[in-house]
Amino acid sequence: MESKKIAIVGAGPAGSFSAYLLAKAGFEVQVFEEHATIGEPVACTGVITADVMTKRLQLPKELIVNRIAKARIIAPNDEFIEVKLKNDIIIDRAGLDRHIAGMAKEAGAKFYTNHRFETFEYGNSEIKKIIAAVKDKAKGETKKIETNYLIGADGPISSVAKAAGLFGNRQFYSGIQVTIPVENDNAIDFYPSREGIAWLVPENNGVARVGIAAKKEANSYFRKFITAVVGEGFEKKIIGWQAGPIPIYDPKLKSATKDGKVLLVGDAATMVKAPTLGGINQSLIGAEAAAAAITENKNYESLWKEKMGTDLYLSLLMRKAMERFNNNEYNQLVATFKKEKNKAILESYDRDEPRKFALKLLLKEPKLILLAMKALF
Ligand SMILES: Cc1cc2nc3c(=O)[nH]c(=O)nc-3n(C[C@H](O)[C@H](O)[C@H](O)COP(=O)(O)OP(=O)(O)OC[C@H]3O[C@@H](n4cnc5c(N)ncnc54)[C@H](O)[C@@H]3O)c2cc1C
Repeated sequence: MESKKIAIVGAGPAGSFSAYLLAKAGFEVQVFEEHATIGEPVACTGVITADVMTKRLQLPKELIVNRIAKARIIAPNDEFIEVKLKNDIIIDRAGLDRHIAGMAKEAGAKFYTNHRFETFEYGNSEIKKIIAAVKDKAKGETKKIETNYLIGADGPISSVAKAAGLFGNRQFYSGIQVTIPVENDNAIDFYPSREGIAWLVPENNGVARVGIAAKKEANSYFRKFITAVVGEGFEKKIIGWQAGPIPIYDPKLKSATKDGKVLLVGDAATMVKAPTLGGINQSLIGAEAAAAAITENKNYESLWKEKMGTDLYLSLLMRKAMERFNNNEYNQLVATFKKEKNKAILESYDRDEPRKFALKLLLKEPKLILLAMKALF
């Protein structure tokens, strides 16, 4: 039993799904979550594709807040492309986190809320154990947890990454969002621009999750956008605030220590699609790779990069190009995608897998090659 202990930091999708898979495989799993309630506070819009979710989790129907059949990508000149969505859903994000934690608990994982990971060191015994320092916030005591593997699933500002020397020079977007009453036609509106990305994601025809993500001046960008969408005096209408940092995928970062005993999963390893800043699906893929690496003694980084490394890298290139576009180039981009042949490609592929459609689009539309060059030069 000596080599069977796993300590996981963070009870978000990455941590709880890793806990579920490893507990199911017979490991002794402990999950430490710094907040009192799993899933809260929420910092997420909750847009995912249903098939991705149901493939990995039995998502209960009551966690689906809305189903969306179309999205518009809106250029700075207000021209837009309308694309059909096959199976996009809006989820109750706090409920999702609790659902995955429930699966893990049922598989035998133990959860400790109100417990904050502080740091770790290697023990001196022959089998080098990891000794993690975890603070019980209610008692004000720091406990020493002996473990064979330590998984950092503790989000963008990962303390595990810092303690393991894996934090690097990662960069972030600031995400700011409100849930607010606003009339809408149940389509996602997505506004890419030089300043960042802004969105309106309906919960129903009268309420939406409206927000932005930006590298700098996020507050002023947010105020400008929400005023344009909801109008002056929006503050009085707000139902809820959600905000948090979003890591930008960094292909140079290492996601595990050399001995493979400390692993980073999800946002902690910057596993986020750069153009849309979605990371839930990626955190589940990362968790599967972490569980496979530990149970089958394989290289963790190779496993997850094989599944999504190319897609994350292509997404990053797209984002880099988009950061350099001026408004005129955004208008051109939307005009190019308005053509039926290009729209059809966008509608037929999963946006989590750009490797499957990027080349097709570039071959069909040489103008895109010129725009793509911006990413590289
Ligand atoms: C505004 C916004 C909108 C977003 N919208 C979407 C979207 O629509 N679709 C999508 O796919 N993604 C979206 N994302 C990204 C998505 O939320 C993340 O990619 C996802 O939550 C990553 O899951 P995770 O488990 O890696 O990290 P998290 O969900 O951040 O979980 C990390 C957990 O670790 C805990 N923790 C942190 N430090 C410690 C510590 N020292 N000790 C103990 N516990 C600790 C935290 O409390 C948290 O519970 C959005 C993000 C933001 C900010």
